[in-house]
Amino acid sequence: MLDKAPNGKVSDLLNALDKALSAGEVEHAVDLFQMDCYWRDLVTFTWNIKTMEGKEQVRDMLKARLADTKPSNWKIADGEDASEADGIAESWIQFETEVARGFGHMRLKDGRIWTLLTTMSELKGHEEPVGFGRPMGAKHGAERNRKTWKEDREAEAAELGYSRQPYCVIVGGGQGGIALGARLRQLDVPTIIIEKNERPGDSWRKRYKSLCLHDPVWYDHLPYLPFPRNWPVFSPKDKIGDWLEMYTKVMELNYWGSTECKKASYDEKSREWTVVVQRDGKEIILKPKQLVLATGMSAKANIPEFEGMEIFKGDQHHSSQHPGPDKYKDKKAVVIGSNNSAHDICAALWEAGVDVTMVQRSTTHIVKSDSLMELGLASLYSEQAVQSGMTTAKADLIFASLPYKILHEFQIPVYNAIRERDAEFYKRLEKAGFLLDYGDDDSGLFMKYLRRGSGYYIDVGASELIANGSIKLKSGVDVKKLTEHSVILSDGTELPADLVVYATGYGSMNGWAADLISREVADKVGKVWGLGSATTKDPGPWEGEQRNMWKPTQQEALWFHGGNLHQSRHYSQFLSLQLKARMEGIPTPVYGLQEVHHLG
Ligand SMILES: Cc1cc2nc3c(=O)[nH]c(=O)nc-3n(C[C@H](O)[C@H](O)[C@H](O)COP(=O)(O)OP(=O)(O)OC[C@H]3O[C@@H](n4cnc5c(N)ncnc54)[C@H](O)[C@@H]3O)c2cc1C
Repeated sequence: MLDKAPNGKVSDLLNALDKALSAGEVEHAVDLFQMDCYWRDLVTFTWNIKTMEGKEQVRDMLKARLADTKPSNWKIADGEDASEADGIAESWIQFETEVARGFGHMRLKDGRIWTLLTTMSELKGHEEPVGFGRPMGAKHGAERNRKTWKEDREAEAAELGYSRQPYCVIVGGGQGGIALGARLRQLDVPTIIIEKNERPGDSWRKRYKSLCLHDPVWYDHLPYLPFPRNWPVFSPKDKIGDWLEMYTKVMELNYWGSTECKKASYDEKSREWTVVVQRDGKEIILKPKQLVLATGMSAKANIPEFEGMEIFKGDQHHSSQHPGPDKYKDKKAVVIGSNNSAHDICAALWEAGVDVTMVQRSTTHIVKSDSLMELGLASLYSEQAVQSGMTTAKADLIFASLPYKILHEFQIPVYNAIRERDAEFYKRLEKAGFLLDYGDDDSGLFMKYLRRGSGYYIDVGASELIANGSIKLKSGVDVKKLTEHSVILSDGTELPADLVVYATGYGSMNGWAADLISREVADKVGKVWGLGSATTKDPGPWEGEQRNMWKPTQQEALWFHGGNLHQSRHYSQFLSLQLKARMEGIPTPVYGLQEVHHLG
């Protein structure tokens, strides 16, 4: 029989919290928290994405926000039971605020709150049209000159951006812009997505030909429309491109392909953007109230500058421009870089019969895909998780409930176990000269991704080719210069080359703000991405959340959206609610707007 005792513990705590918060008794509420507590709020209390760390920060936030927020009805979520293991009781919870319904997660240690996650599910009076609220589609009855669904859609497409202005413009129609656009459509926020490629999905289609997603299907669903159960575990890039194109159509998005955003400026007085776009050879001026840059954190190519690049006679390009291996059979290739793209491209070149050398300047974290799936992701995102009743929404919320400050502590044991399991594999790689790391504090791939968005390869086969020498390796060296037919390394080695691929990564999204708006605005909002962990490429001070992502920035009405498919899915919910609230004139006082410590 189910042990109901945890329900009692959690309910007692929630009742006490409800009572203290309803009475405005901040001290009583703070007393219910552990000393080392974490309260992560996704928009409900703070109109921000913010983690309060420790009682002092919880107190400060409540003092600032409790009176406006007016939370109530805290309880164990409908249909859920609390559970307890290793001295931690935990439960899904629900609550309301003055303007919204919330869902969350709570962990109790010694009868007090250790972690609390509060997220906004919906704005009262502005719920999405689902279930009993779904649209009729047909208009029953008789009506002269009635319009069909198709005619209505065509009329909308003809007027939005021309005779009627969108409330929101999203620049970038990759999966980020598309997922956010879908949420905004459901919330009835008039939105146009601007994409310089011709078709939705092109940002995937245009990547190197051998690319398949590195993350498995359970991690990758888009909002509203999960992949079918027979979808492959690792989506080939062109297949995911087609899915995005289909999704854009069926979710009825106003998607302007072959349209480039040229520049944007904000008028502080009218609180309106002027966005200049080029569509079908014509300049169009859009006047939205909100501007979202969904231009991709893996889209602004970092192209190094080496002496001699201008005289090199072979082909040279950034990994994002790499066409695939076909025309390089029997030729010599040098791939500069040692992360995901470098490995994928080297492997595909080797398969096509190219003599390929990887140049590794500094250490890289490698994790075998099956080990990552089994030890890193299985409990939340896997077929086993699905079988045991885990939903994508719950998996996302459990992941979100682990505070960033201590997330590495949960990750270190996972990567230690992976190191042990794959010890032989790592030994062989090192023997081949490959420089390995496991993250600055051995916390592995996820932390590297969250902190710096680079520095790793999820091994799907290329590592074996490096270990057995099929892909040649030069490590611990940099490129000194290029000659007409070769690459000269810092140790004096000369590598003859017909092709040089710069798999040297991507620049910060801040760079897009500088290009499209101004350097001044880019500097005002500061660095995008990273946690302030004071690890490589993620300078301190500690920020507690990812810089500038999905939340208000120092530039009013400017937002950044993106990340991997999981993040796009999860955080588009909270960004869309922030935009909807502003459109409806719901007060959205932001608590704890992040300070800027670093530029671009
Ligand atoms: C090789 C590689 C493998 C990856 N594998 C995975 C994976 O397995 N799983 C995963 O989740 N992520 C993966 N990623 C990360 C991947 O980049 C992102 O998940 C995804 O592309 C991000 O989507 P996005 O919409 O934020 O950006 P993008 O897909 O980069 O889309 C940004 C869009 O903005 C458009 N744009 C930019 N500037 C303008 C402008 N001025 N006007 C109009 N349009 C503009 C671009 O054309 C582009 O289409 C991988 C990335 C790379 C490079």
